[in-house]
Amino acid sequence: MSEDTESTDRIARLRPAYQADIAAGWERFFEPRRTDCPWCGSQELTTRLRTTDLLQHKPGRFVLDRCEGCGHTFQNPRLNEQGLDFYYRDFYDGLGEKQLGDTFGGRTKMYRGRAESMLPYDSAPKRWLDVGTGHGHFCAAAREVLPHTVFDGLDFTDGVELAEREGRVDRGHRGSFPDLAPELGSHYDVVSMFHYLEHSTEPDRELRAAWETVRPGGHLLIEVPDPESRCARFLGRWWLPWLQPQHLHFVPVANLRARLTEMG
Ligand SMILES: [Zn+2]
Repeated sequence: MSEDTESTDRIARLRPAYQADIAAGWERFFEPRRTDCPWCGSQELTTRLRTTDLLQHKPGRFVLDRCEGCGHTFQNPRLNEQGLDFYYRDFYDGLGEKQLGDTFGGRTKMYRGRAESMLPYDSAPKRWLDVGTGHGHFCAAAREVLPHTVFDGLDFTDGVELAEREGRVDRGHRGSFPDLAPELGSHYDVVSMFHYLEHSTEPDRELRAAWETVRPGGHLLIEVPDPESRCARFLGRWWLPWLQPQHLHFVPVANLRARLTEMG
């Protein structure tokens, strides 16, 4: 069977489930709208953006609010678990896996750059945990920069199991980071979160999990879209990193720094 026929067949098989989901209405995919900021508790919220799913074109409308108290920007109302499942489905796995695998695989240079950014701080970390590792492509590329480092990956999708089978990560941990953190222990020289925090429902819990798993004196490496960037202002809803509805929280750098300092 050609790839095209195979893909057409898969789409045909998936269609009834999508049609049933859409017919049931998508309002049920949302938590109640918040009246306070999830980061600082302030009630001064303003609407920053209204948009739709510009990538997968699934139905639904999404609103990002901005807290006037601290600048935190977040999806409000936020998708619930059922909603996240609906909008993530076939994006990273299933139908989208092959396409994304190719796209991500082609990003080796960027991944190497991320690994190299660690060198001035620790030129030979022993153990590195990549949180939100997906299919493990970052770890595979980072090994070429740091051949003696053990790379573990963590993700809540089965992509991490694939990553372990393919040898891209030494160990793959599947599940939620805050839930797994206690058993992982605090012995990682580096914990990285590349474009992870903005997907999480509670970024604050993720930071605490990171604090639990980085060894004393180790490093936490975070890469997130900056809601204060000029491009975000100029491009409005067409700024790609808004990535609605997947990105739930946009934490300004100053807020991140303050919270991490508080935690020690
Ligand atoms: Zn706030």
